[in-house]
Amino acid sequence: MKKKKRIPLYLTIILGMVAGLLLGILAVNLNFGEIVTNWVKPWGVIFIRMLKLIAVPLVFVSIVVGISSLGSIQKLGTLGVKTVGLYFLSMVGSAAVGILLVNTIHPGNTFPEEKRAYYMEQFQESMEEKSSLADGLKQDSPLQFIVDMVPENIISSGADNSNMLQIIFFAILLAAAIVMIKGEKTAPFTNLIESLHEILLKVIGIIMQFAPIGVLALLAGLVVDFAADTDLFTALGLYFITVVLGLTATVMIFYPVLLKVFVKKVKFFRFLKAIAPAQMVAFSTSSSAATLPVTLKQNIDELGVSEDISNFVLPVGTTINMDGTACYQAIAAVFIAQVFGVDLSIFEQIAIVMTAILAAIGSPGIPGGSIVMLVIVLSSAGIPVEGLALIIGIDRPLDMLRTVVNITGDSAVNYIVGKTENKLDTSKTF
Ligand code: ASP
Repeated sequence: MKKKKRIPLYLTIILGMVAGLLLGILAVNLNFGEIVTNWVKPWGVIFIRMLKLIAVPLVFVSIVVGISSLGSIQKLGTLGVKTVGLYFLSMVGSAAVGILLVNTIHPGNTFPEEKRAYYMEQFQESMEEKSSLADGLKQDSPLQFIVDMVPENIISSGADNSNMLQIIFFAILLAAAIVMIKGEKTAPFTNLIESLHEILLKVIGIIMQFAPIGVLALLAGLVVDFAADTDLFTALGLYFITVVLGLTATVMIFYPVLLKVFVKKVKFFRFLKAIAPAQMVAFSTSSSAATLPVTLKQNIDELGVSEDISNFVLPVGTTINMDGTACYQAIAAVFIAQVFGVDLSIFEQIAIVMTAILAAIGSPGIPGGSIVMLVIVLSSAGIPVEGLALIIGIDRPLDMLRTVVNITGDSAVNYIVGKTENKLDTSKTF
């Protein structure tokens, strides 16, 4: 019997996205937006919930499986240093791309005075809310972020998806102990965890069957929600274009160079095609944490990076590596400075790159996660925090795009680590 040829997943997701956009546009023009909000959007919310549902167990199980199969603590040390080093390098590169572009295009210089006053009034409330959240963060000791990584109680960490670093900390500790003990005593536990890992990967497969409908519903709902704000696009057009160019240059110029340097023989478009479904889920959900299950699956199945490497590198990357966010924060900070006529010297701009990186590391992988951290970048550079009001209204579409870059950066580093550790199935993308 002839087997029916299946349409590849990324194509069905693209179809879902196009259908969602069309449905949203139709709903806005034919006035049935409310129906979309009440009857279509909830399916998108269910899709995101399902992804989030497995995020905590998946991060825990993946890291334990990944590290315990490394075999030695030294290996974990080298892998850890290499991974964090590459993540830092990729964030420096993308923030530098952002700074270069915003200084070339100068989107803030032509921003009309009356528009500035108008937006500051319109978005004052949400700006104040974000900056008071950031004030809370600023009062902490500079080492607070390390303190926050260490959980007091693993059950309560596991009850909140935003405590991913605490879960990672606990998983690394546990896996390190397993590696030190080795042998029969730990075998029942590792067998159980490995079996759980297999099961969770299957669960991701099941959830992904639902992805085309999920992205359709999410995008239709977003178009309807955003329709009222279309005039924002015209006023902030140049800023919008600068961020889009920065993110595009990060993916299409910086990553190919990075991969060329470390991986040498690489077919970049095959790399992109392998992770395309994860990029589309990132675009639709605006959350790199919710996308992690898909990022893992694509990296292992399609990109060919071994499970033990991906299981360690990707969960860590999802939480600390945010190239799109770093690029965006650098552009947003300088844009606001330009609008307010704040002159920034080259050293101040370098300081912005560094704080943007730290802020990106601290941003949670959730929709709009980096806005609160942007307040810290602005205030440490002496740029008026009120300027946040200018860009909040237009943030969602930019958030969708920078989330795509965030997970692409994680995958690029995973690919490099996989290749340099001889853990890459080169038949997939070479
Ligand atoms: N939404 C982004 C992410 O999940 C974070 C941000 O830049 O706001 O990766």
